[in-house]
Amino acid sequence: MRLVVKYGGPSLSGAGRVRGAAEHAASLAAEHQVVVVCSATPGTTDDLMAVAGRARAGDREGAARLVAGIGEAHARLAREAVPGPGARELLGGIESDVSELGALADGMALLGEATPRSVDYLASFGERLSSAIVSAAIAGAGRESSALTGKEAGIVTDSNFGQSRPLLDTTRLRVSKALGAPLDGGAVPVVCGYAGADQHGRVTTLGRGGSDYSATIIGSCAGADEVWLMGDVEGLMTADPGIVGDARLIREVSYAEAVEMSMFGAKQIHPRTFEPLLARGIPLRIRSSLDTGSEGTLVRAAVPGPAGNTVKCVSSVRGSGLVDIQGDGMVGEPGTAGRIFGTLAGAGINVMMISQNPSESSITIVVKNADLDRAVSALEMGLLGRVIRRLDVTTDVAIVALIGSGMRGTVGVASRVFGAVERRGVNVSMITQGSSELNLAFVVRNRDADAAVRALHEAFGLGGAKSFKGARPGRAR
Ligand code: ASP
Ligand code: MG
Repeated sequence: MRLVVKYGGPSLSGAGRVRGAAEHAASLAAEHQVVVVCSATPGTTDDLMAVAGRARAGDREGAARLVAGIGEAHARLAREAVPGPGARELLGGIESDVSELGALADGMALLGEATPRSVDYLASFGERLSSAIVSAAIAGAGRESSALTGKEAGIVTDSNFGQSRPLLDTTRLRVSKALGAPLDGGAVPVVCGYAGADQHGRVTTLGRGGSDYSATIIGSCAGADEVWLMGDVEGLMTADPGIVGDARLIREVSYAEAVEMSMFGAKQIHPRTFEPLLARGIPLRIRSSLDTGSEGTLVRAAVPGPAGNTVKCVSSVRGSGLVDIQGDGMVGEPGTAGRIFGTLAGAGINVMMISQNPSESSITIVVKNADLDRAVSALEMGLLGRVIRRLDVTTDVAIVALIGSGMRGTVGVASRVFGAVERRGVNVSMITQGSSELNLAFVVRNRDADAAVRALHEAFGLGGAKSFKGARPGRAR
């Protein structure tokens, strides 16, 4: 088989984990053609964003200090993870990458400017450093290996810095050229996740968490048989095991279900991750690098649902804010929604949930707590007293979502859901279900979220005897 195997940040946290990943990749390469894709080590991308922040503030010393810290941490990791003759060359490479990073940060700080284009270039260094170390560790484990940036591997994107999207046809041609020869020769190319380059060769990133997306772009363009995402969780779970004691691993889901789960679950996956796989029907596995024997969760085109299993998982996202936008002037007035969402978009606010009742006298939205202040002031300044009359804001709410394609056309799901929640005395303040019926979501107080998740997990019989092994998945990236 031809495999693309992506190691996420947690799989690269420390020398032991890096060596473990390298040995895993090397042993896979004994049987398969393997392309490795790496994330940055944990926290490194955040540190690079902090460098950008210092540069924007014109703080040359501050930026240099942060860069030095990143350099030292990676040199230490390199020395510990790659002993022996490979280490010297690796350390030299790291030193030259770090000095390029330092020059870039200093230039940005001199100008006091951090444009999206320079921030992307800066942010791409996390993966450059981690991939060099992983590649040297794979060579140390006895397999020929070389590290390639996303640009060198052939990932071509549009010029939308910070949120770029791949130009798949061009990428396909370049990736097969860049990776074909090393793969046929039995080597393991290690590609830096998260970044590519636009048609002018300028480095772009695919957005935070984009290494998953890099892996599926490479998988699709290199004609892989499977793409594996190796993380700290065993796979996708029926619920967060930190909330529900008997949460189980989900064996199989469809791409569509996985997209819904990626937005909510403990395992955060870049939402575009599945796109490149769709046309070719390439299966994706979400597996644990702590327990490589576990099969994980298989994501593929269509999954025949076991009879009676309407819901596959229950998840929650806390820390959101709800805004109820009211006004008699909204009733029967074409363009109201357009003005509300246009105003929010103008303020750069992402809306997570929307509902409008048929009387049209109110529209309710949910945004992240961090966006709430800006959302409310944008609406107040832009529309209050004209289109809208009143804003009711509730902070600290949670979205609870049920996901599963088996809900489609199944009668009685809603009554089971709200019956179960009601029995726990939990109040529901907003409900949405798209017509795809893949996802039913509702809003509760933060403090009620866990009780609601447990009640639903039980009501739909999602638990099992098999308990979760391994680390508790984090909620954040
Ligand atoms: N390093 C990038 C981030 O932290 C991309 C990734 O890890 O997937 O967002
Ligand atoms: Mg990630």
